[in-house]
Amino acid sequence: MKIGFQLVVSVDKLWVRVLRAKYNLEEVLPLSITRRNGSRLWKGICDIWDELKESVIWNIRNGRNTDFWYDTWIDSKGRLVSECNSNEVPRPVSVSTMVNGESWDWNRLQGWLPLPILEKLEACPIPKTSFGDDVPGWRWTENRCFTVGSAYEHLVTEEARNECSICGVGVEDIDHVLRRCTKAQALWLQVLGAASIGGEFFTQPFELWLMNNLFLSTSWGGSSSNWGMRFAIWCWLLWKLRCSMIFDDDFSEREDLLHRGLRLITECERVFGMTVPARVTEVRTPVRWERNGVADSLAAMGRLHGRSGVGFISPPDGVLSRLDSERTERLVEESFADLDSSRGREMGLVFDPGG
Ligand SMILES: [Zn+2]
Repeated sequence: MKIGFQLVVSVDKLWVRVLRAKYNLEEVLPLSITRRNGSRLWKGICDIWDELKESVIWNIRNGRNTDFWYDTWIDSKGRLVSECNSNEVPRPVSVSTMVNGESWDWNRLQGWLPLPILEKLEACPIPKTSFGDDVPGWRWTENRCFTVGSAYEHLVTEEARNECSICGVGVEDIDHVLRRCTKAQALWLQVLGAASIGGEFFTQPFELWLMNNLFLSTSWGGSSSNWGMRFAIWCWLLWKLRCSMIFDDDFSEREDLLHRGLRLITECERVFGMTVPARVTEVRTPVRWERNGVADSLAAMGRLHGRSGVGFISPPDGVLSRLDSERTERLVEESFADLDSSRGREMGLVFDPGG
């Protein structure tokens, strides 16, 4: 997001000029930037472009590049088109055309906008040619400057509003993923059977449900030993399945969840022996999606140690370094293969999560 935003606001920086020239961007904030051949960095920016466009607020100078109705400029609440009283949908016009001499064109505007908006407009300086081009700003902070924190916060609240991308019912929180989603419910019914599952399984508070299943092996697992471990495996598979369904472009469910799980359980029990209880040390609840190999390396490690479903108290070293490299430098450096990476650092290409 930071790199994308720089692409819009820092048009004078060398790396931005390089990128913009390479992908032929003429407008400051084009509607679409999709290109047939793009580097990994470019594809990443394309993925967030719509979100990014929504995050831009225009600081009016000469008012020529900003659309009066369809760009966000007057305050962070959104576009003026949603405030328009007129029966007709307004045509796109630049902010500069809404000026009459030394003031806003009140004659026209009064018919279109409600009083509170007109008052806000009155407080805005009149655009002037001598002020130069309009300048894009970041919508989610008061001073309109980008911060990683505000971008993250914005994304998280946006995401919190999102419905489950698999069943479309309910908010996609961790309770939904592991228990309430139709996908999860179907699995639990298959695993435990309708008769033994009982009402409480689906009604207990989430944390309690999780703890009961992980540590009180007898509650729903019935006669099956190692329920804590089995339960952790089922949860893990539900999570993995969801990640694949959402992030793998060519996802297909080759083996159904039930059989994959049973296979994995057999494997684990063979490694541990039937009597060893699962050593679940900590349950971490992920808060947002991450498309990277970290989950996979964790899974691989878990498998390597024969400890699927075991939580890590702190992230293992390999994972940390992987996180670092995946998020940042690799993306940038691949895109600038012709520049060596020290040069990249010098130019400030390397992502700085500090802000
Ligand atoms: Zn769902």
